Amino acid sequence: MVSMEFEPVIGLEVHAQLVTRSKLFCGCSTEFGAPPNSNTCPVCLGLPGALPVLNRKAVAMAVKAAMALGCRINAVSVFARKNYFYPDLPKGYQISQFDRPLGESGSVTVLSGERSDSGKIGNRQEKIFGITRLHLEDDAGKSIHEGLPDSGSKSYVNLNRTGVPLIEIVSEPDFRSSQEAYDYVTHLRKTLLYLGVCDGNMEEGSLRCDANISIRPKGSETFGTRVEIKNLNSFRFLQRALDYEIERQVDVLSQGGGIVQETRLWDEAEGRTLPMRSKEEAHDYRYFPEPDLLPLKLDPAWIERLRRELLELPGPKMKRFIEQYGFSVEDALLLTGTAELAAYFEKCAGASGNARASANWIMGDLAYVLRNSGKGIQDSPIPPGNLAALIGKIDSGEISGKIAKTVFEEMARTGGNPAEIIQRMGLAQVSDETSLGALIDGILAANAKQVAEYRSGKTRVLGFLVGQIMKETRGQANPQVVNELLQKKLAGG
Ligand SMILES: [Zn+2]
Repeated sequence: MVSMEFEPVIGLEVHAQLVTRSKLFCGCSTEFGAPPNSNTCPVCLGLPGALPVLNRKAVAMAVKAAMALGCRINAVSVFARKNYFYPDLPKGYQISQFDRPLGESGSVTVLSGERSDSGKIGNRQEKIFGITRLHLEDDAGKSIHEGLPDSGSKSYVNLNRTGVPLIEIVSEPDFRSSQEAYDYVTHLRKTLLYLGVCDGNMEEGSLRCDANISIRPKGSETFGTRVEIKNLNSFRFLQRALDYEIERQVDVLSQGGGIVQETRLWDEAEGRTLPMRSKEEAHDYRYFPEPDLLPLKLDPAWIERLRRELLELPGPKMKRFIEQYGFSVEDALLLTGTAELAAYFEKCAGASGNARASANWIMGDLAYVLRNSGKGIQDSPIPPGNLAALIGKIDSGEISGKIAKTVFEEMARTGGNPAEIIQRMGLAQVSDETSLGALIDGILAANAKQVAEYRSGKTRVLGFLVGQIMKETRGQANPQVVNELLQKKLAGG
């Protein structure tokens, strides 16, 4: 809990790996999981004389991301060397952007809520968070300190990641709670996935996040001493690390102590942040313009073409779902969770003419099937057209809601369409008066006592008789026809 007297000030730096096939400055593959050090060449190994050539696709993706985050696109940006020594950085520098980044001065509107004790997020409200800058840079390699035969005495290095294109998105220090930070990175990830520029896979390191956090007395305009937290491998870790750090800093200040400006690592197992060894700290990157690359000049016509390629983003899509289909915020958030899910829903709703039922099936039975089979919506065994056809058959009275569940299970199992399954399994609703009439005659003959009761005025037994008929037909008798026939026969008897 934050004491009433203090408020946290949080800023975030997010590194997102772009999904290009080749690296930022050479033709090496970016494939994850290739044999160690196989995706390398003189350029990304930083061998003398090798020259970088900029990947146009990476620039296009970075421009789209910057636009989607409301940034101004700088017509001229400049690559700069960020110098530091580390074993996984063979060049001895990263090629990044410094004082002239690709995108600047953006903002995002995020629905931010509050997390209840049960972990559910509710009470969402729109909040605007500033984006300071978005720039392109190449990634470093990976040092591996654990899990290999001689890890006890050695560290290993894999340079496959060296030179993979990244965008770094730096926020303004606009977050006042761990939940706001959590909601922002969730929004960011969703936006990048919608754009198709990042796969958002945190386990593989495609999306990484560092946080800056300080504490100040509530109402104060000046910033406190800030601490940087690294090693945040999931959004939940981010939130837990921030909560821990807020409490730690409040404790230090409340006891009259001072915060040390430092970098700390989140230790998930211990549930706390720990200071990094200070010698890994002192940053003086000695940035200077990259002499092997010309300034990046973007043609305004090309920028405009990229702008026209932007599809509907998650925020506007969610608002449209609320207005167009009358959904709640929570339903709209869920259904716009990914571009693929939203597209599936819209196909189903369009074909069935029943948005509410489409949403219910997708968020209920279909979500269950997908979760159990570990599949995404794009691999759904039931195409949206088939789900729409099923909804159509319920709406037209061809099958009951109960039978529809059986048909749905068979659709999920076989990938078949509802008409074929209803036919094959003999599940169509029986409305034929002749066959139902004969069946009812049999039921009445077998339940003479109830028939007598009904005729003596105890009409409540009607429900029992209807139940017998439904049981006999395994729920397939048309209830309306059954009721009419039954009453006619009981009255006429
Ligand atoms: Zn290479």
